[in-house]
Amino acid sequence: MEWAVAIHGGAGDPRGWKAEQQQVRRDGLSAALKVGSEMLAAGKPALDAVEVVIRLLEDDPNFNAGRGAVLTADSRAELDASIMDGSSRSCGAVAGVTTVKNPITLARRVMAETKHVLLAGEGAEAFAEAQKLPLVDPSYFLTYQRPPTAQEYMGTVGCVARDKHGNVAAGTSTGGTARKLPGRIGDSPIVGAGTYAANDSCAVSCTGVGEEFIRNSIAFDIASQMRHADRRLEQAVDQAVRLTLKPNTGGLISVSSTGEIALQHNTPGMSCGAADSSGRFEVHLQLSDGKLSTAEVSQEPQALVAEILQKQVEAWNRGDVVGFMDGYWQSDLLTFSSGGAITRGFASTLARYQQRYPDAKTMGQLTFSEMEYVPLGDSVMQVLGVWSLEREEQPVSGRFTLVVRLIDNQWKIVHDHTSTTE
Ligand code: ASP
Repeated sequence: MEWAVAIHGGAGDPRGWKAEQQQVRRDGLSAALKVGSEMLAAGKPALDAVEVVIRLLEDDPNFNAGRGAVLTADSRAELDASIMDGSSRSCGAVAGVTTVKNPITLARRVMAETKHVLLAGEGAEAFAEAQKLPLVDPSYFLTYQRPPTAQEYMGTVGCVARDKHGNVAAGTSTGGTARKLPGRIGDSPIVGAGTYAANDSCAVSCTGVGEEFIRNSIAFDIASQMRHADRRLEQAVDQAVRLTLKPNTGGLISVSSTGEIALQHNTPGMSCGAADSSGRFEVHLQLSDGKLSTAEVSQEPQALVAEILQKQVEAWNRGDVVGFMDGYWQSDLLTFSSGGAITRGFASTLARYQQRYPDAKTMGQLTFSEMEYVPLGDSVMQVLGVWSLEREEQPVSGRFTLVVRLIDNQWKIVHDHTSTTE
């Protein structure tokens, strides 16, 4: 992909919004995404696109960033923002500012004009003044007749981009969580938690319950998974959003250094959008299944593993235990655990099967169902499923977990854990 950009407007739940509220959000997202797309198509740097897109969303009162920010428990707007350049890993952030019209631009100045990463409160405001950035009266941010509750309003904004030069960048800006304690700082200005970008992996911007994102260093974790665990972007994102974060705490947008986009939330909704040089341009208030990925996932490994298991079923159902065992790694390192015991090695596993299933009658007719194929990198896969045996004597069934590995160009089961339902 030559260029790619994704944006979010917070992990709010669109089900409670009136049709016109939904429409103004969609319009705000589309307008910002369009500007970001045009900049990247024109060859502008990802960092510039991120800043400009976020400024637009900060100026839009329908989002919880800049004008429109939610308020603290004592009814003030305290704004946080951060930005990161994936090509140099330079970053800048501001926290708890109350008079800076565009906190994202101040964050960029912290990055470019100081030797620091994060400025907070009065010091940050004095720096904004010294930088001659537009300052406003704190009342500029107050757009509500009645302060919204946390549930009603989650509208943090963020943008991630990959430009034509192969650089990625990320930024996030927010008023934080509604009715937060004065002085509370969330994940949005914390590099590694709410925002992260590095050219070797990806750019990420998060939204949701900031404390949960800080505890788990979510944005950095996604880059780390790609670096050290050989995960593709959408796998890393899925791991973080579905397994690491507590349910119903937020979501994130990300783009890999190769221009793949992955968006995911574990809340009922997340306002977001994605566009890239293939002509994709879409905005959503929630994603079906809570995720969207533009990666062209090759189904090939899953299909190959499914084929091996299908052959096993066929062999079993003609009473051929040896043929069934063909799917297993013919090695002393094969492990098979079942019924509280571990069998080590191919020969012992075969012997165990032969002892337990001496003939076609005891073997019965095998089916596998509820299969889940979970790639763990390019050459290892986990397969979860249910097995059942129809036969004259008591039918039996249970669950199994396989670890399947690519060995000498062939997928082989290297570990099998089987349990029988009581
Ligand atoms: N993550 C933000 C914070 O905790 C809030 C949000 O995304 O809605 O400050």
